[in-house]
Amino acid sequence: MVLIIGLLALNLWISSKALSPNPRVRIPYSPTFLTQIKGQNVSEISSTGDAIQGMFKNPVKYGGSEPTTLFSTQVPSFADGAQLSNLLQSEGVTIDANSPDSGPSFLESLIFGFGPTLLLIALFVLIMRRAAAAGGGGGLMSFGRSRARRVEAAEQPVTFADVAGIDEAKEELTEIVDFLKNPDKYVALGGRIPRGVLLSGAPGTGKTLLARAVAGEAGVPFFLMSASEFVEMIVGVGASRVRDLFQQAKAAAPAIIFIDELDAVGRSRAAGGANITGGHDEREQTLNQILTEMDGFDPRSGVIVLAATNRAEILDPALLRPGRFDRRVSVQPPDRGGREAILRVHTRSVPLDPQVDLGALAASTPGMVGADLANLVNEAALLAARRNHTMVTREDLSDSLERIVLGAERKVMLTEEDRRRTAYHEAGHAIVGMLTPGADPVRKVSIIPRGQALGVTFSAPDADRFNLDQQHLLAQIKVALGGRAAEEIVFGDLTTGAESDIQHLTQIARHMVGRWGMSRAIGPVAVIPRDGYGPLLPGAAETSEATQRLVDEEVRRIVESAHAEVSALLREHRANLDALVARLLDRETLDEADAYAAAALPRNPEAQPEELTSTVG
Ligand code: ADP
Ligand code: ZN
Repeated sequence: MVLIIGLLALNLWISSKALSPNPRVRIPYSPTFLTQIKGQNVSEISSTGDAIQGMFKNPVKYGGSEPTTLFSTQVPSFADGAQLSNLLQSEGVTIDANSPDSGPSFLESLIFGFGPTLLLIALFVLIMRRAAAAGGGGGLMSFGRSRARRVEAAEQPVTFADVAGIDEAKEELTEIVDFLKNPDKYVALGGRIPRGVLLSGAPGTGKTLLARAVAGEAGVPFFLMSASEFVEMIVGVGASRVRDLFQQAKAAAPAIIFIDELDAVGRSRAAGGANITGGHDEREQTLNQILTEMDGFDPRSGVIVLAATNRAEILDPALLRPGRFDRRVSVQPPDRGGREAILRVHTRSVPLDPQVDLGALAASTPGMVGADLANLVNEAALLAARRNHTMVTREDLSDSLERIVLGAERKVMLTEEDRRRTAYHEAGHAIVGMLTPGADPVRKVSIIPRGQALGVTFSAPDADRFNLDQQHLLAQIKVALGGRAAEEIVFGDLTTGAESDIQHLTQIARHMVGRWGMSRAIGPVAVIPRDGYGPLLPGAAETSEATQRLVDEEVRRIVESAHAEVSALLREHRANLDALVARLLDRETLDEADAYAAAALPRNPEAQPEELTSTVG
């Protein structure tokens, strides 16, 4: 510590010295300078241009300055140079013998220039060393301290009443709550108490919320930490954080530790390749420390670890062994009833217009999870406030939904030609969607630019659907092709506008062939890996080049035959297409009823239950 203060003081001194101006006094040329020469008080001068620096024999005080021997002055341009030089010579002043003030030496300027920086670096290195020497425990900056957020039971308002739509998961966790409340009951009967529960499910389905609710119901402290925070650049820090986290929790037992994004440290050692920065080592050390801590639990310690992941299948098997995360709770996206329940939870404190029908809203939000619905309610409340409503109305909710699903409107000026082209493109999607069996009903068609797209056609199913059949997938491909096909038919040429449509439909076709076994030529064999996973995962076999070529051919075959059908369909229904385009150009956005009416097509009577919503640009 003394050393550090000493270094800081030195630093201050050097910089103050480097910054303090030379006590060189600036004097007027006439009379002061000339008088001093005549008084024989000037020993030497040097000049650059008209500026003169020099030295007095005896210190001189000018103005309010300290007495000094160093001075500078400026020779006026009209002064007689010859006369001055005569005067200087006659008074015996050394001229430019050497610059009276040659500035700091090389070494001096080096120290003044870089000294402070060097000292700072030295200081930093010192601090780092001390932190490391302290074993990450209590060093000066405590790198290794767990950054877990501790939420006390008292200030923990989340209970099971705040969690809706995921009843199975909730049920499985009530047992954990009971255990935390009455551990002795279980121990007396010799039951092995679970140490770890793994919550797996898509982001935003409420895993964190559930863990908080468990702690809230049991009235125990809750320690929250994200596994990605464990992993830092400095090896060893993650492990010491884990140690610290478990220590804190044990001291506060009974307690809940919640580790979010467990896959950040727990991915299978076989699967993920090491990265160059050595992150692999760090991850492994952190993971091992978690395993060690869990193995070392006294069953009576009353600490339960909940962890969340959205990719349970890539986790290291070591994590899932008995005594570790041996309970698995899957948190599914909510169904229609679940969404309604979640909307109720989130509108509890929102004044709702009596006209608002949460059931209908739930029906029109398939695929949305708890976090999306919470966001929707929040957006609607903000919108209502901006519109000076005293209550949140149905329009506020549906406009917010549209904004969330379709993206915010963008202000761009389109030429009349571009608008017409966009209208045909979107109408093409919509007409194909209306006519193709298995396609989702068209909910909205718009030629108002949003985000990247110049227009949008939005389809959504009437109800949730948990399996996709081939007919539905083909219908999605056809709807995506509809925009481009309409442009081809009407304008004869092509634009770049259909790029995202093409990506979308190619992906569906590839998955049909390579993952879902829907091509007879390939058969029910997984030949392409799931998105974002390496080719080394179980199930996705390494494929031969011949198979790859076959996949490509099958994809092409599917898309080309769909394209031929779509073109024929649109030619046949050209009148419907033109009618829809006319209405779109007039009104810009059409909702479901208007769109079907404008196209003079019936709303598909046999309502298709589908799961995925699809939006095509
Ligand atoms: P996850 O951890 O699964 O990514 P979160 O628990 O962080 O999701 O959810 C984020 C927010 O979304 C929650 O704080 C809550 O407001 C809302 N939410 C998510 N799921 C639900 C649900 N089932 N019931 C009520 N609200 C939910
Ligand atoms: Zn499109």
